[in-house]
Amino acid sequence: MNLLPFGKLPAHRPRKFVPEKIDLGDWPQIEPLFGLLENRAPQIKSAGELEKWLLDWSELNAALDEESSRRYIAMTCHTDNADAEKAYLYFVEHVEPQIKPRQFALEQIYVAHPQFSHLAKARYQVFNRDVKNHVELFRPENVALETEDAKLSQQYQKLIGAQTVSFRGEEKTLVQMGRYLEEPDRALRQEAWELVAKRRLQDADKCEEIFDQLIQLRTRIAKNAGFENYRDYAHRQKCRFDYTPDDCLKFHDSIESEIMPAVREIQNERKRQLKLEKLRPWDLAVDPQNRAPLKPFVQVGEMVSRTQKIFNHLDVELAANFRQMQDLKLLDLDNRKGKAPGGYQSTLSEARVPFIFMNAIGLQRDVETILHEAGHAFHAQATRDEDLYAYRGAPIEFCEVASMSMELLGNEFLEEFYPVAEANRARKTHLEGIIGFFPWMATVDAFQHWIYTHVGHTRAERKAAYLKLMDRFGGDVDYSSYEEMRAHSWHRQLHIFIHPFYYVEYGIAQLGALQVWANSRRDKAKALNDYKKSLALGGSRPLPELFAAAGCKFQFDAATIKPLIQLANSELKKL
Ligand SMILES: [Zn+2]
Repeated sequence: MNLLPFGKLPAHRPRKFVPEKIDLGDWPQIEPLFGLLENRAPQIKSAGELEKWLLDWSELNAALDEESSRRYIAMTCHTDNADAEKAYLYFVEHVEPQIKPRQFALEQIYVAHPQFSHLAKARYQVFNRDVKNHVELFRPENVALETEDAKLSQQYQKLIGAQTVSFRGEEKTLVQMGRYLEEPDRALRQEAWELVAKRRLQDADKCEEIFDQLIQLRTRIAKNAGFENYRDYAHRQKCRFDYTPDDCLKFHDSIESEIMPAVREIQNERKRQLKLEKLRPWDLAVDPQNRAPLKPFVQVGEMVSRTQKIFNHLDVELAANFRQMQDLKLLDLDNRKGKAPGGYQSTLSEARVPFIFMNAIGLQRDVETILHEAGHAFHAQATRDEDLYAYRGAPIEFCEVASMSMELLGNEFLEEFYPVAEANRARKTHLEGIIGFFPWMATVDAFQHWIYTHVGHTRAERKAAYLKLMDRFGGDVDYSSYEEMRAHSWHRQLHIFIHPFYYVEYGIAQLGALQVWANSRRDKAKALNDYKKSLALGGSRPLPELFAAAGCKFQFDAATIKPLIQLANSELKKL
């Protein structure tokens, strides 16, 4: 039984190294391929041979990656199929742990190879920099500490996952409670918000305890690798060669000076429209005019055909790309029983085609998601002819430019879904969401900068540092009589616990997307051309060059942000 929505997809390039007949879920069959690469390396006598070796390694990586993706897609499309789950878990538990140390061994062989420095500098600059970094940061004594870190992260997830409340006689998860914050009935919103906030506060001490241990562990990991603090280590570990922690601090400052006035203005308008004296934390998600949610489509087929029309307006090539995804059945978008929640874009790395998974139910959020994921898919399609596996993917700071730009560019044609007034309402919500994201991003990032550069701080000092950030970036929301909830509101941000320092990327990318959008306002054809050219570079160039190719500056200072916020503001006034 074929559990995948798409049929047999041929490899984009015929295999040269990986045998045609091989079970890529069976380690004993995979292992000899790593052995071959390891044994061949010492015989390599020229840069050309080393390149050939890299391409064979790339082919193996792509084949393994596709195997893992296929199993993941099958499982998420059929959560009720025990075989699909078993096949995926088998790969994760029995194949991946075997692959990891062998990949690392190849990386070590590669960077120490006599021909390493003879490869063409410009072509291999990024790849070599990243592989070298990975090898240099490795410390055997950190392996156990990282396992410990993962266990603590799991404890946090278990703690948060178990949180439920009893609401009107029914047990509900905190995620399920989110929708009551959109209810026009204010008393009901307050009741729901309070219940959730109180439930979270019950676990505050446990969260703090887990976090204290995480800080200690992470500081030890950083010191072992020769870094003064975990912040500097994390930046290096994430291969952030093109911006520094100081640049991030400046980014926070520019958000405070350039974006906070717009945030306050949006909050003020909301307060006026809701006819309130003060905005309370339960007044932030409801439609300020108490309108019913937008209904862009009923059937998923309508969503796809209208999205296709948007791309037809936008660009011939992108339109053909989206059409191809439909023809090859690379979309599984409807919400149905037996499907995992959420949405994602995945790439079948050997066929070099993208796949989009969603659970569309007829909300404006679904339209945003399909545009976003299509942006990621276009990125994958743009890099098809790149043979170095690592270069078919870009850093997150730029991947999200591809997707977030497509939300903004696609939104120009929302009339495919709505009458003008409703299209404008959707655009307004979207733009306000973009503006509102920056301060929270800055809070999450700045807080972690403070934490890991003030090791040995007390919980009271940590609380004070967080409250200072809430004052800077929280805007005009009245938390009186809920001060403790405000002081611990970071406990719900899983990135802080599980993916330290992973968040600023979205702020950086959003600046890129806003610039692509601003460019398209001046010259649509050029902006789209630049966008497509930059996507085709994949991960082959450093971030400033990827941004430059897209027609954007890789800067997060006030001078870059100011005109973007001005454009968003003037646009908002028209909507
Ligand atoms: Zn994305």
